Amino acid sequence: MKNISILGATGSIGTQTLDVIRNSDGKINLIGITANSSVDKIKEIIGEFEPKYVAMMDENSSKIIEEFCNKEYPNIQVFSGIDGLVKIATLEEIDTVVTSVVGMIGLKPTIAAIEAKKDIALANKETLVVAGELVMNKAKKNNVKILPVDSEHSAIFQSLSGYKNKDINKILLTASGGPFRGKTIEELKDVTVKEALKHPKWNMGQKISIDSATLMNKGLEVIEAHFLFDCDYDNIEVIVHPQSIIHSMVEYKDASVIAQLGSPDMRLPIQYALNYPERKGMIAKPVNFYELGALTFEKPDLETFKCLRFAYEAGKIGGLAPTILNGANEEAVALLLKEKIKFLQIAEIIEECMSVFKENYYDELTLDNIIELDKKVREYIRTKWELGVK
Ligand code: NDP
Ligand code: MG
Repeated sequence: MKNISILGATGSIGTQTLDVIRNSDGKINLIGITANSSVDKIKEIIGEFEPKYVAMMDENSSKIIEEFCNKEYPNIQVFSGIDGLVKIATLEEIDTVVTSVVGMIGLKPTIAAIEAKKDIALANKETLVVAGELVMNKAKKNNVKILPVDSEHSAIFQSLSGYKNKDINKILLTASGGPFRGKTIEELKDVTVKEALKHPKWNMGQKISIDSATLMNKGLEVIEAHFLFDCDYDNIEVIVHPQSIIHSMVEYKDASVIAQLGSPDMRLPIQYALNYPERKGMIAKPVNFYELGALTFEKPDLETFKCLRFAYEAGKIGGLAPTILNGANEEAVALLLKEKIKFLQIAEIIEECMSVFKENYYDELTLDNIIELDKKVREYIRTKWELGVK
């Protein structure tokens, strides 16, 4: 029996985690859940799973849920704000936290969970991007596992099992290429938010869908892979594979390549992370190789999709450079979703922030400095682009 909390239970990964729980023959027990403001979805989850603890980031929403629980589920405790998320991540009763909030808001609760010796099923890649070194060192010190949920990292993790890190030649990180694969800068000038949100293979939250369209998602994943698998950036290669059947590969020093394949269904890596090292029953459709057609591979276009290049650059600089990259990206994506900027401006904003904040690259790598710098980057962007102060 495994007792878990889900941070971000109402989102795309959160909802699919609930499905993994439904499929677990009662072996996974949902103790704590969080959301930002999706009150109706949280009520539904409470109705079905009756967790003991709930936290809503948004204060108003937490009041609504508190009233609802007082009336219908008096045994459920309700919390709010970031302290509420931390509470759910560190509950005495749980063994594992699924971190499926979106954005670097997941940083504090993830660190707190590790300090409380909880294993982490990690979907929230932004946390690892901004604080990979801190998170991995803390995990080692507290003897907790960081189990990747991101499909590529789950594939790498599976392809590494039974082998030694020193025998790796490189990590081959696959990318679907997103909805704009093959397009030129000229063709991307006037794309709409709706087109950018339409991912060809995966149905995901809005932020990661936009990241997939700019290829920043792959950039964040390169940094995620660097920290998870302690691999140099020069040994992480992105390969565009539009069919999304090979979820990533590892090339060993003898040139053997080990890959993990499967249908594009996030329940597979979620289930693997929650049951590791065991494998549980079939939750996704098996691959039908006869119906699959050709599997193809391309080099990513780093001139058109500059975000991927910026991520490599920020990762190689190290220190707080990925914090600037990530903060600028989160804020720029939020502006695009509000239709305040155009698609190609995401990369422009990130490039500008990387230059404006370059004196902060090597500030001391502490949790406080990361949070402070992230705030500064966001304020800079909001002032300039959202409020229009030039
Ligand atoms: P969604 O947008 O679908 O869900 C986000 C979740 O986080 C929701 O529960 C949401 O609550 C909550 N949330 C949003 N903002 C805040 C906030 N400010 N404070 C607290 N909680 C908040 O995202 P996804 O599930 O798509 O992605 C989650 C993470 O997993 C991301 O880091 C993403 O990169 C990663 N990931 C996702 C994949 C996917 O297939 N979706 C694949 C691989 C990785 P509410 O509903 O109330 O807004
Ligand atoms: Mg991924």
